[in-house]
Amino acid sequence: MEKQHKVLIMRCDTYDADKIAGIVREGMETLNIRPSGRILLKPNVVIAHPEVFPHAFTRKEFLDGAITAIKARAKRPREITVGERSGITLPTRWTFQNAGYPEIFKKHRVKARYFDEETQVPVRLTHEKRLRDRVFVPESVARTDFLINLPKFKAHPWCRLTLSLKNYIGIQDDRHRLVDHNLFLEHKIADLQEVIQPGFIAVDAITAGQKMMLTPTPFPLGAIMMGTNPCAVDTVGCHMVGVDPTDVVHLRLAAERGWGPMDIQQIDVQGDFPLDAVREKTMEFEFCLEHIDRYFKQGNLSCTVGTFPEKHSPDYCWGGCPGALQEAIHIYKGYYPNITQQLRKVRYVVGKVDGPLDLEPGEKVIFAGNCTRWKGEIDGRPVHIKGSYESPQAVDEGETPSNDLLLKTFQTLWRCFRHRKGRYIHARGCPVSVSDHVHYLSAVGRVPNVNFDRRMVIPLNMAYWQMRAHRLLNRLRKRF
Ligand code: SF4
Repeated sequence: MEKQHKVLIMRCDTYDADKIAGIVREGMETLNIRPSGRILLKPNVVIAHPEVFPHAFTRKEFLDGAITAIKARAKRPREITVGERSGITLPTRWTFQNAGYPEIFKKHRVKARYFDEETQVPVRLTHEKRLRDRVFVPESVARTDFLINLPKFKAHPWCRLTLSLKNYIGIQDDRHRLVDHNLFLEHKIADLQEVIQPGFIAVDAITAGQKMMLTPTPFPLGAIMMGTNPCAVDTVGCHMVGVDPTDVVHLRLAAERGWGPMDIQQIDVQGDFPLDAVREKTMEFEFCLEHIDRYFKQGNLSCTVGTFPEKHSPDYCWGGCPGALQEAIHIYKGYYPNITQQLRKVRYVVGKVDGPLDLEPGEKVIFAGNCTRWKGEIDGRPVHIKGSYESPQAVDEGETPSNDLLLKTFQTLWRCFRHRKGRYIHARGCPVSVSDHVHYLSAVGRVPNVNFDRRMVIPLNMAYWQMRAHRLLNRLRKRF
């Protein structure tokens, strides 16, 4: 069988920027990579904080080493920039600061591209299996000549693994990122591959992340993975941690659409860290891919999961609210390890549920998401939760609502306040974001709201206003 795609696995057990630079440079030479034109580096900085979220992002030393190598290999570059859109509502300025990136930008004289501050432009999609005819991406992504993908190696509670394909979720701003971020998340990831193909991929697998994507448990994997084809790189990544590539749905979809292989026999795996040796090391690597009704069995949080409105996934929504609940609880666990005991009794209901909920006395209910429907009685009073889920065809990606941090926070807190005395609340959204889950859990479960952690709230708000000011400036610059 012809092996068209080469993937390298190299040993690297420390975040030493010089060592990383040497390894990445060697990898680029082996793969014959010569970046040119407008070069854009896309790390994974979904969230970052040295104390609260230390393992969720591509480390600054990795970025530092990668830039050194890229500069050495680049041929007549017009510019080298680093761009990202962090997790929903989080200003990328804030996460870059927390990740320690500004000093790297200064050292290498490269510019940051904060995708949340840029004009979003439509890109046409043509693949016959596409969800929609166009997607919106930041201008700098649309006009880049050479994209370098720098993902973090992490398990993912919604998609099993996040490697190079999944890292593309961060090329969209909030307004467009939440479109199809539900039962269609995996299809959305496959769609985004059509926007731009990476010229080079280097995965930060030095300290990998287990279980969660925002609060992963660190795993000393001690590797850097490199390649040029995202499907090939992700397939090798799957084998490194004993996952069948066909179980990673976005990888399967991308491979079926012709973006690359998912059969290890078609990939030429090289480097100084043999796959067998990696596998031996990762035997205990942990995932968290469990339905929430089974996952939250003990404590005061219990879940009722119904059925879902799309034929391809009628019994669970992997890309939306359930995973966001898991992430929110794990964020809470960083502050209150026994949070599920500390909450007041809460029932979390998602999907279309038939029949009584059999609530305990005083147990409060969060009906989560636009697809949730339920009809019954609570405290002898009729309750009718009406669904408002819309299929992708009914959602116009050009007319999406703002997911502005302050606006969303205010709307959610107001809703919580209005329902503070009731037995239930309907959290709307498709999906309901992780930070909104934190708001709802704190209001309904009567626990402190960790969204307002003192270490984060002031710098986050400062970054938010900087982001707004720069967004406005960028708009004015374009107009005049
Ligand atoms: S409302 Fe939530 S659970 Fe329902 S389809 Fe949308 S994202 Fe999934």
